[in-house]
Amino acid sequence: MHAFTLAQPASIDAALAGAGTSGAKYIAGGTDLMQLMKDNVEAPTHLIDLEPLPLTVIRADSNGLRLEAMARMSDVAAHPAVREGWPVISQALLASASPQVRNMGTMGGNLLQRTRCGYFRDPGFACNKRLPGSGCPAIRGENRLLAILGGSEHCIASHPSDLAVALVALDATVEVRAPNGRTRTMPVRDFHHVPGDTPHIETNLASGELITAILVPANPAARSSAYVKVRDRASFEFALASAAVAMEVRDGTIGDVGVAAGGVGTKPWRLPEVEAALRGRPLSNDTLRTAAMQAGQGARPASQNGFKLPLLRNTVLRALRIVSA
Ligand code: SF4
Repeated sequence: MHAFTLAQPASIDAALAGAGTSGAKYIAGGTDLMQLMKDNVEAPTHLIDLEPLPLTVIRADSNGLRLEAMARMSDVAAHPAVREGWPVISQALLASASPQVRNMGTMGGNLLQRTRCGYFRDPGFACNKRLPGSGCPAIRGENRLLAILGGSEHCIASHPSDLAVALVALDATVEVRAPNGRTRTMPVRDFHHVPGDTPHIETNLASGELITAILVPANPAARSSAYVKVRDRASFEFALASAAVAMEVRDGTIGDVGVAAGGVGTKPWRLPEVEAALRGRPLSNDTLRTAAMQAGQGARPASQNGFKLPLLRNTVLRALRIVSA
């Protein structure tokens, strides 16, 4: 690991002021960044520790849910209002990592975790995401775990967050503050980038911007929501495919619905083709199956991950059946 200096600012303003320091990077729970630093994948020379900041509020009211950036994964997953009003968030968090990691991992950090592509995490290999222009060995190499949606000739890395998939299905927004003090929000679905020809640029965060909160609207569909994750082993594993569904059914007819997928896209992947096949239709097994089989339009599997398309469709179907039961 490279040497670095550490700042522990007592206020958000002080943290933002430090972001201009050469080689600076924010650190929250550190569950991903510390490993990347130990592996020499990341080498910040100045860390700004966000731990002391008063950004731990978890608040639910009639407008929705506010999850501040330093709220812990385990605290959010166990919060009674989250479990009641937005169960898909609680389920996605509980399907993530290990209890120890969930006790440290934060809302903001979860959105910013880096891909698990093995080439990215090993500096002994080329990788366009780590070193632009160096190449992508995954395209002809080990790609079983990587994306079938949103890839480019430069990168096919899958996005690892479960939480972000739930947030995309729920039309959540991210609140960020810039070093000049200006606060802005953006939909979570627009927060992450597809790789295109700049796979090293992963989010819409501008230099020095700090995530302060995630805002989730309250609606009947959110109360009837679920997360299904399929993975190689039952715990502490990333998704081969996952599905987040929030769906309102009124008098036997499907109303408001949000569907998103994880493990298959280069970013948390909204599935409008599935939503369109559900909205306004009578709730039935046929409707659910027909809709689920629309998932993944435009998929371009690599040499080892063609199985992900049928897996995605069956995962979506399972999530639809859970919220319909
Ligand atoms: Fe790097 Fe992306 Fe290729 Fe993986 S898929 S080796 S992260 S460029």
